[in-house]
Amino acid sequence: MVMLVDDQPFVAEIIRRQLISEHDINFHYCINPAEAISTAEKIGPTVVLLDLVMPDIDGLMLCRLFRNQPTVRDLPIVMLSSTEDAAVKAQAFAAGANDYLVKPPEKLELIARLRYHSSSYINKLQRDEAYRALRASQIRLEELNMELLQLANLDGLTGLANRRYFNERYHEEWARAVRGKKPIALLMLDVDRFKTFNDHYGHLGGDDCLKQIAAAIKKMMARPGDIVARYGGEEFIVALPDTSLNSAAYLAEKIRIEVEKQAIPHEVSDISPYVTVSLGVAEMIPSPGTDPNTLIKQADECLYQAKRLGRNQVQAVMLAADPVDPTE
Ligand code: GH3
Ligand code: MG
Ligand code: MG
Repeated sequence: MVMLVDDQPFVAEIIRRQLISEHDINFHYCINPAEAISTAEKIGPTVVLLDLVMPDIDGLMLCRLFRNQPTVRDLPIVMLSSTEDAAVKAQAFAAGANDYLVKPPEKLELIARLRYHSSSYINKLQRDEAYRALRASQIRLEELNMELLQLANLDGLTGLANRRYFNERYHEEWARAVRGKKPIALLMLDVDRFKTFNDHYGHLGGDDCLKQIAAAIKKMMARPGDIVARYGGEEFIVALPDTSLNSAAYLAEKIRIEVEKQAIPHEVSDISPYVTVSLGVAEMIPSPGTDPNTLIKQADECLYQAKRLGRNQVQAVMLAADPVDPTE
């Protein structure tokens, strides 16, 4: 699609005739330079022929206007002028023209130049479109990768982190605590009499109960650095970086109370008419070379103690850091 902007209709007539034999070239004539840009936006030419000398707005000025308007900025512009003057040609190119033809142009040359500029513009549009599509699919791929990463790290039932992800993060936090000589606390939670709960309410009822307990734990967590995970079937674990034993035991007690407050009926429990949980808490300032599992074992032992002492309670212990090896 060729658009000609020229104030003299006879020039338009000459060009129309030159193009008439080319069935794949559409020709549009715009007599008013003030309407050139809006017309181009409307009809979408692939090349513009611009008269250099026109009243009101001359071709150079109009060329600059095209270059400043984002919707038509990249359109190829061929200047039409009656002068061969090199200085005038240079001015046209400086204003942003892509080519220059002396009026009246030779038919063969006109068609060749129009075809050349038109097809390079169409190629550019196609390239831009392909690039846009590529970008869109790259963004989609990144989103899917994020989702995949989330799925790999999350427990499907509760939406908490899974054991694999917990271990990864726990080891990172452990190393940080070693470097910073800071305490790290662990909290292990196990549902009391969950086997009889399942037997009585069915496995789906059991799953619902686990979801509610996960929500209760999450609700009590205040710090973004804390890591909450489903550790096993009915066991949950929380790592609390830079947290004292007192604070961790206090949080454990708040979680225990929050679960009680949810008042999930447990008709066959000998502990309470509602679902209860037991928690073990351990804390230490780890020294280099200490096995991170030491703290997990200790929290687990406290949890066992809580069970033995009657369930629905928190038991806590502080571990002394290993003596620092003076040879290290
Ligand atoms: P205790 O008070 O000593 O913890 O008794 P308990 O019955 O809770 O302990 P036990 O380890 O004997 O039972 C745990 C039960 O949890 C066994 C299993 O049926 C149930 N369980 C484990 N994972 C899931 C799960 O994903 N969904 C459901 N519904 N039940 C589960
Ligand atoms: Mg258990
Ligand atoms: Mg249990």
